[in-house]
Amino acid sequence: MLPTSKKCFFCNNDIFISDDYSNSLKKCKCMNCGEYAISEELFEDIMNEDTYNKNIDNLYLISGYLREINNRGEEFVIIDHKNIDDLFSQALLSKSLLEKMNLILVYIFNATTYFSEKIIINTSHYAICYSKNEKEYLQMLQALCDIEYLKNHSTFGECSYSLTVNGFLKAEDLKGRSVISNQCFVAMMFSEEMIEIFNKIKPLIMSETNYDAIIIFKKEHNNNICDEIISEIRRSKFLIADFTGQRGGVYFEAGFAYGLGLPVIWTCKRSELKELHFDINHYNFILWETAEDLCSSICKRILATIV
Ligand SMILES: [Zn+2]
Repeated sequence: MLPTSKKCFFCNNDIFISDDYSNSLKKCKCMNCGEYAISEELFEDIMNEDTYNKNIDNLYLISGYLREINNRGEEFVIIDHKNIDDLFSQALLSKSLLEKMNLILVYIFNATTYFSEKIIINTSHYAICYSKNEKEYLQMLQALCDIEYLKNHSTFGECSYSLTVNGFLKAEDLKGRSVISNQCFVAMMFSEEMIEIFNKIKPLIMSETNYDAIIIFKKEHNNNICDEIISEIRRSKFLIADFTGQRGGVYFEAGFAYGLGLPVIWTCKRSELKELHFDINHYNFILWETAEDLCSSICKRILATIV
């Protein structure tokens, strides 16, 4: 069947929809959100605003999320009744003004190949920074010029900006590319045994690989990652996730880092291998028995894959 033209559920731009009957999906192509699929059931509901009235004002946040997934070149996301509510409750979507502006800086940074290069901005692609509309995108670009991270070169009919020196430094820092950024985030169960192991491996990781392993001791959480954890993961170059004890928080933190594109080193006590969730058990896990063998394997993995 030929694709039909409709409005995007998340950003209201024109989209092309094609039916995937065998999987009961509608596949959508939006110039702002990118490609995604939506279950037929949810599709019918959203089409009928009388039955779908949850989070209507915040649907645009999903379009930012879809854009991020598309930009990373990952397989398109399927949105259905089960995951749409989860998406809203995830910290991933709670983009503050500062986070949105940071996303713009990193976007321009990624497109820049030499200093002072003017990067053309298509303001109709405002989902790249979780903007609600084109106007918000333009105003954030202006704000970035006001604080001297960007220089505006726009002419009539074309928007273009370049990074200033301060803009470069900020973007480098955000991307963790700065030469002084040597942090790795450790996600693990907070048992006495694991804390003891962390205290043993931290100085060894530093002396062997020059990375500063940090951990945040907070109350265990399942879905609600605190801001401090989010910002420390963002600031890290990679994440070590130990799944011993099968803690929800560890799964979440590893997933968040993975979603950001940070390398994740997956580890688990050998005796708990069978407990690992099938979604992640195919990753190249370091299976350990003692703190010593965990530490030496982690250091080897860092030197082989991160440095
Ligand atoms: Zn869209």
